Amino acid sequence: MIIITEEETKLSIHLHKKIDNDTFARMKESAIEKFKEEMDGFDSKSMWIKTVSEERIVNKTEDTNDDNPEIIFNKFSNSDILKNGFILFGHHENKIDENKLELLNIIINEVCTILENSWLYSKLYKNVKNMTITDGLTGVFNHKHLMSVVNQEFNRAKRYKHNISVIMFDIDHFKEVNDTFGHQTGDVVLREISSIIKDTIRKSDIAGRYGGEEFTIVLTETDIEHAHVFAERLRKTVEKYDFFNPADPLRITVSMGLASYPKNEVDTPKSFITYADQALYEAKNSGRNRVCIYGNHNS
Ligand code: GH3
Ligand code: MG
Ligand code: MG
Repeated sequence: MIIITEEETKLSIHLHKKIDNDTFARMKESAIEKFKEEMDGFDSKSMWIKTVSEERIVNKTEDTNDDNPEIIFNKFSNSDILKNGFILFGHHENKIDENKLELLNIIINEVCTILENSWLYSKLYKNVKNMTITDGLTGVFNHKHLMSVVNQEFNRAKRYKHNISVIMFDIDHFKEVNDTFGHQTGDVVLREISSIIKDTIRKSDIAGRYGGEEFTIVLTETDIEHAHVFAERLRKTVEKYDFFNPADPLRITVSMGLASYPKNEVDTPKSFITYADQALYEAKNSGRNRVCIYGNHNS
């Protein structure tokens, strides 16, 4: 049976009898050929294959039937929701009679409906889950989810004595952007800043909107020196970026405060954030467009 969604093509093969390696490989090839012929959007390169009851594939012996099994039933559904196809292989003497064929058709139709429904529900569930953890304007994590990730990652780092760093990030004079160019332009800038952050961090790092024009970035497995290099790179990227209208770009700068465990002796996720926030305060007070590290005055 094959299922094709926007994300993947999944082929599952169910074996009811022993089959030898060569026959199995030939059967798989001819199923793939048939799917290619019958199904829109079939792409064998990105296909994920699962063989149920794999132990039935054996080396050739007397008990394995070396006749080539042939297709004795097939059905394909190229619906817009989910494409799926079903091929039944057997030996020609096991051909299915008319009554069984009709029953098989009914069952397969029901299976297709169930598959479509469950796929729709899982997609809906993923969308709802995403909506509850991401910030609607910028697409990064929202405050609530960000805090739960900070808790989890900080506690994990502390338990295993691993490095972890956190950055509090605030746009400089953002009120002026809103006052001069309007709130909608401000929103565009927030989205562009979020994209820069998302493009700059690693997969294992976490970025979220702390609130307003403030963002938090958690750098897992990162010590203070590497976090500082990262923060400076991010700061310079923002500084050089053409915001809003490339023909007449708006220049934006940001200030950042950095805290790092175990360099900073910090006990709780809450105080970890507070330390980074204090460093941010120092970055603002010492002139903006800079990165300050908690405990390093005027860095
Ligand atoms: P500083 O350099 O000290 O950070 O100055 P600032 O002007 O950035 O700081 P302030 O806290 O005075 O102003 C933050 C501004 O961010 C004010 C608020 O209107 C704006 N802001 C917060 N959330 C949003 C939003 O979702 N969209 C837009 N467009 N503006 C927002
Ligand atoms: Mg602010
Ligand atoms: Mg600000």
